Amino acid sequence: MTDDLFRLTVAEAGDALAAGDISSVDLTRSVLDRIDAVDARTGAYLLVTADAALAQAEAADDRRAGGDAGPLLGIPLAIKDVLCTDGVATTCASRILEGFVPPFDATVVARLKDAGAVLVGKTNMDEFAMGSSNENSGYHPVRNPWDLSKVPGGSSGGSAAAVAADECLAALGSDTGGSVRQPAALCGCVGLKPTYGRVSRYGLVAFASSLDQVGPLTKSVHDAAVLLAATAGHDPRDATSLPEPVPNFAAELDGNVEGLRVGVAPEYFGEGIDAGVASAVEDAIGALEANGTEIRAITLPHTEYALPVYYVIAPSEASANLARYNGVKYGLSDPQAVDVDEMMATVRAQGFGAEVKRRIMLGTFALSSGYYDAYYLRAQKVRTLIKQDFDTAFESVDVIAAPTSPTTAFDLGGRTADPLAMYRADVLTLPASLAGLPAISVPCGFVDGLPVGLQLIAPPLHEARLLRVADAYERLRPETPALRQAVEA
Ligand code: GLN
Repeated sequence: MTDDLFRLTVAEAGDALAAGDISSVDLTRSVLDRIDAVDARTGAYLLVTADAALAQAEAADDRRAGGDAGPLLGIPLAIKDVLCTDGVATTCASRILEGFVPPFDATVVARLKDAGAVLVGKTNMDEFAMGSSNENSGYHPVRNPWDLSKVPGGSSGGSAAAVAADECLAALGSDTGGSVRQPAALCGCVGLKPTYGRVSRYGLVAFASSLDQVGPLTKSVHDAAVLLAATAGHDPRDATSLPEPVPNFAAELDGNVEGLRVGVAPEYFGEGIDAGVASAVEDAIGALEANGTEIRAITLPHTEYALPVYYVIAPSEASANLARYNGVKYGLSDPQAVDVDEMMATVRAQGFGAEVKRRIMLGTFALSSGYYDAYYLRAQKVRTLIKQDFDTAFESVDVIAAPTSPTTAFDLGGRTADPLAMYRADVLTLPASLAGLPAISVPCGFVDGLPVGLQLIAPPLHEARLLRVADAYERLRPETPALRQAVEA
């Protein structure tokens, strides 16, 4: 067995563990050493829980010795710091949550632990998941493992960079408007946003509750299928969680896409889409066609409204959700304050970063009396039109193919002075989020040494179909030149 155990996929490591070639302790040590070697360059983690991870690895090895098995037993994973972890600090990369230690696990975390996964640490992110570059972290930025002068994308930038730089075998992120798919595209890994309601939000710190979903970031489509199956399914603790059975997604991946109809919409290839990105995605669609899918032209006419609609609805929900950070219950407080008003004012002024404050102000404004109908209500109506575009399209196609991000990874600091330029990073991921649809980003080549992502979108609860097409594409994708990650230079 190679010394580079940290490079394995979940599937490869699972096979090696099952065959008795390696132990979870070996594998976890290898990942922890890798973190020691490269994390100072990527900044992917906010917290590494090395001792707990090794204890979990030993427990997993004991379970296996006792006859237990399973695709995640003994596999080292990373968790975005937006998910509550029992006894382990959870900050959402915000100073306002500094020192907060949840007394419970998010349902997805509990399910991964039950499956015997080893949790190596909490990954960096944009504060409260608001951002597209990870530069809004209240702690430190994350650098893209392919080029350290570039952003990894956001808001799950730490999870994406950790997977890309082999600092974990796979990770969980959260996606409200693109935060799993966009960083996956920019870092060259697979990122899946499930159907709204497919995965429990219990213990996921709320940003925009009608949009938030937890999803995996992985080195392969197969691994995304494994993580989705382990985390999905009804949870009585989340009222929006769907009581739907969870298929064995990985077992259904056979590379066959014969006869599937793939929709291509001009709205996803228009102005603002980098020519190199568009052509890589067109090549990927061509490869699917050569392997038996039928490519059909569709239109999604309300696509251009997704960005303004999202930036009314998400900040509105955020302004309500973030009202709970008042210095009383969680994290940062101000014991010197003379009264509760002063305490709230100081704590919120000091604890929230600029982008979070901007969203709270935007949302509070959009929800205020006199403006509610003009902004929030209208945005909800247009959201319905966006959803209807997809309903119509899915009458004639099985999946939709598009770029994930309009550009490859951009320069660190390149968009921080221009919030609208930053928001435009999500134009291609927001529509599926607003419609509650499952969508995946799978690597489809490089432009100037930086990864490009192919986005596939399916009707509600059709993750199996999404994974099938993504996996088929992954099998037939041309070998990419072995680009040496900057992280190892
Ligand atoms: N980048 C988008 C935003 O800033 C989406 C974030 C997300 O999906 N959490 O809101």
